[in-house]
Amino acid sequence: MTKRVLILPGDFVGPEVTAQALKILLAAADMAGIELETEEASIGGGAYEEHGSPLPEHTLEAARRADAILLGAVGGPQWDALPMDSKPEKGLLRLREELDLYANLRPARIYGDLVDASTLKKEIVEGTDLMVIRELTGGIYFGKPREIVGSEGRRTARNTMVYSESEIERIVRVGFDIASKRGKRLCSVDKSNVLEVSVLWRDVARRVSQDFPQIALEHLYVDNAAMQLVRDPKQFDTIVTGNLFGDILSDVAAMLTGSIGMLPSASLGENHALYEPVHGSAPDIAGKDVANPLAAILSIGMMFRYTFDRADIEDAIVSAVTEVLSTHRTPDIHTGKTRLAGCSEMGELVLNALTRAPLPRPAVGSKP
Ligand code: NAD
Repeated sequence: MTKRVLILPGDFVGPEVTAQALKILLAAADMAGIELETEEASIGGGAYEEHGSPLPEHTLEAARRADAILLGAVGGPQWDALPMDSKPEKGLLRLREELDLYANLRPARIYGDLVDASTLKKEIVEGTDLMVIRELTGGIYFGKPREIVGSEGRRTARNTMVYSESEIERIVRVGFDIASKRGKRLCSVDKSNVLEVSVLWRDVARRVSQDFPQIALEHLYVDNAAMQLVRDPKQFDTIVTGNLFGDILSDVAAMLTGSIGMLPSASLGENHALYEPVHGSAPDIAGKDVANPLAAILSIGMMFRYTFDRADIEDAIVSAVTEVLSTHRTPDIHTGKTRLAGCSEMGELVLNALTRAPLPRPAVGSKP
């Protein structure tokens, strides 16, 4: 079976981390017996310089053809003053919109010894392994009307939080589906004590839960969810929530695990899938071979699980990353006990660990 993967390196550290992730993609596809066709295209600031648009038409066409997309990161200070539609970030937002990537998956998991990199106490975060699923194409970030009206000193601004039943249902179904492949517990987060949108959200979540009797559903208000995430993150397995609450909670969950250089993500729609590290283009460290490539590499792991249906390959990538972290680290997560490694050395080490190890057998009862 041939799978088409589009690589969009983007700006600054984007090409550095995607180069390492590409090595892992090729080796892992080989292990999985998947024939790959890869193609590279431009997006972001570089695409604007070259083609006058942060999302050129040929890039969008290639994205529509692909089974999966790997993106590095976009943006940089030299493009900050451009009109909104030409900004690099707009290219990424448009790509998500055009492909209707409505489900954003962000795992937060502690990798072995990296527990020391968290700002929380070891006994609180150790063993954390949760997934935040955020609705990505609706809610208050897109609702209309949205405006600032009136004259200086007397202005009023408004945004609109709006969700239809069908929008809620499709993301909640993703939540149940992912939970059924993990620890079989789903926490739906809303603010139904204050917001009508959340009353509807909770109602739909309850209705959909009837189709998933094997999944334990609980509801939390968003303020309590934020508190519980830092009080006792291990109580969570899978969280599903709307765009605004998910934006905030996924960052809180991410910080439990230490560095932004470790955080992968997936954005899924009915027909397309985009995998990318959570971090930005990090212009401050670009070109020095010091960026942490693990977020991009772990995003490849997610690609195998969610697009290629090969959870075993993601497990193998995670094992290889965990093994390498016990001896080598990039500067963002380096401690005295490990050796300092650059971006490309880290990629090589993970590649060696991955190709040396046989595919792990999933342990009985482990989260797939
Ligand atoms: P950033 O994530 O690029 O950097 C924040 C901090 O984290 C910096 O100190 C950086 O050095 C560090 N960092 C980021 N990635 C790292 C890695 N892989 N290894 C080690 N350290 C890493 O966020 P920012 O500085 O706010 O934004 C920089 C540019 O990136 C901006 O133009 C912004 O708009 C853009 N951005 C893009 C995306 C995306 O492409 N998805 C996301 C966020 C920000």
